[in-house]
Amino acid sequence: MLKGKTALVTGSTSGIGLGIAKALAGQGANIVLNGFGDVEGPKSQVQSLGVKVAYHGADMSKPAEIENMMKFAAAQFGRVDVLVNNAGIQHVARVEDFPPEKWDAILAINLSSAFHATRLALPAMKAANWGRIINVASVHGLVASAEKAAYVAAKHGLVGFTKVTALENATTGVTCNAICPGWVLTPLVQKQVDARAAAAGCSDEEAKRQLLGEKEPSLQFTTPEELGELAVFFCSPAANNVRGVAWNMDR
Ligand code: NAD
Repeated sequence: MLKGKTALVTGSTSGIGLGIAKALAGQGANIVLNGFGDVEGPKSQVQSLGVKVAYHGADMSKPAEIENMMKFAAAQFGRVDVLVNNAGIQHVARVEDFPPEKWDAILAINLSSAFHATRLALPAMKAANWGRIINVASVHGLVASAEKAAYVAAKHGLVGFTKVTALENATTGVTCNAICPGWVLTPLVQKQVDARAAAAGCSDEEAKRQLLGEKEPSLQFTTPEELGELAVFFCSPAANNVRGVAWNMDR
């Protein structure tokens, strides 16, 4: 379905981003990976699906580096057809204790980076009259949890940004939608499980059960593979007129 097209997935060296990159590669898209940590492992996982893979290590909190990444992607593959704004971080503290530098970092990485990548991707998508922008928000783009002020603010912002981008391009072949996962067991969430286990003096298994029990009626984690398939749907012809939605996947 996506043969000959290029997908750039931010924060795709791990977790949900890697799951989405692999699902899009499974449909034939060439992939631009981004993110920190091990690069060779994720790169070879995507390459094994028979597509071309490039990597750019832009720090998504830095607009100039995002600009370099977008230029790099265009130079490698011609243009970006599918942009997945996925990079994200978390910090947990009450508002009065929230370190201002963590607030700034979360807003920059989880929200502003999507604006910068999107503004730079849109001209080529509009010229081709085809494009898909998929913002990985969260159920925290729709509801709140205590101690997650910056994350909840950024994700609500991302859902709003998704709607505006969809609206401004509604007469074109460019769509923009948000994915709103509940708990997914990635390194980002494992840190919260570890903190809970340490605070309560309980096992990893019990901490996971408590975490899910508070908010996920199914008591199950959503997987990066399931989220990847939702991204594939947004790229399909069936979704040509799916615009500006914030789609929960939270069981
Ligand atoms: P993760 O920690 O496994 O992956 C995060 C990715 O972002 C990594 O590749 C990391 O290197 C990259 N990254 C972090 N800071 C970056 C920066 N400054 N520049 C470039 N890349 C950077 O986390 P995840 O759970 O896969 O999270 C991915 C997205 O999904 C995030 O936006 C997160 O908010 C969202 N999300 C996660 C869950 C969950 O339960 N795990 C639920 C809802 C939404």
